[in-house]
Amino acid sequence: MSALVPPPGTPLPNVDEPDFAPFWAGCRLGRLLLPRCAEGHLNWPPRPVCRTCRADITDWTQVPGRGRLFSWTVVHRTRLRGYADLTPYTVVIVALDQDPAIRLLGRCVRPPARPAQGMPMETEYVPAAEGVVLPFWRPAAESAPGAGEPASAEPPAPAGEPAPAAPPARTDH
Ligand SMILES: [Zn+2]
Repeated sequence: MSALVPPPGTPLPNVDEPDFAPFWAGCRLGRLLLPRCAEGHLNWPPRPVCRTCRADITDWTQVPGRGRLFSWTVVHRTRLRGYADLTPYTVVIVALDQDPAIRLLGRCVRPPARPAQGMPMETEYVPAAEGVVLPFWRPAAESAPGAGEPASAEPPAPAGEPAPAAPPARTDH
């Protein structure tokens, strides 16, 4: 668990910032909440009017914290304060099942050995500080490492050697 939580001194989100406060309140309850317009369209990030129909954003609604891996990167070196000890870590973009046009960025816990675009993902909520719960992503239960991955995926890189040439959806830093 300690490897998942940013160490003391690591920058954390301002969970009281008005535009995002409902999102962080949802995370504290283990729920993924997104802004919704009067016509029912989901939006992210928060905005005054709907990205689809320009209707007013009227409320926040709970959606299943499930989606598909859209893209990812493995961070091997970072200058971010507090994150150096966490390397290598995987950052993912997940397209929500509810609306694949909604893509959320987050860190991946228990990253798959062979990430693949389209892999099912789900949220995992990790307390990081008093009143701050961070939404992470993990492979969904039915896509545990070794399961649900395309047979044509590249073989894993041998331990201790650089990764092979990156496919289009992946970059290594
Ligand atoms: Zn709308």
